[in-house]
Amino acid sequence: MARLAIDGWFTIEDGVTHLLGTRCPGCGTVCFPPQPGFCRNPRCEDDSPALARLSRRGRVWSYTNACYPPPAPYVPAEPYTPVTLAAVELEREGIVVLGQVTPDLTVADLSVGMELELTSGPLADGPLVWMWGRPHA
Ligand SMILES: [Zn+2]
Repeated sequence: MARLAIDGWFTIEDGVTHLLGTRCPGCGTVCFPPQPGFCRNPRCEDDSPALARLSRRGRVWSYTNACYPPPAPYVPAEPYTPVTLAAVELEREGIVVLGQVTPDLTVADLSVGMELELTSGPLADGPLVWMWGRPHA
């Protein structure tokens, strides 16, 4: 199994990538990354949010391309290849999750409201990270 870039934020099982968040049983607030131990809703006293898999599809809320390499600990490719980033709104959870977009898509292919599906792919130095890609039927 390939190494994941971050432990505990996503899983890949049978080739299917899931983001992991927490859902508060008291008020339903969903957090990503997972936030065990307390609810981030300031009006909620619950302290037992449970780990939850998030929706695998969402709609583009915003997007951009990163023409300069991000700071460490990110390890850029040499020479650096710009990557595309998308902030994708998960309707059921009511949150927006930022992620790198699969290399087959550029900003020219994206538009606000477009549906994307969660997948994963390797960072320049090897470990896998979640990515937003074209939805599969
Ligand atoms: Zn709560």
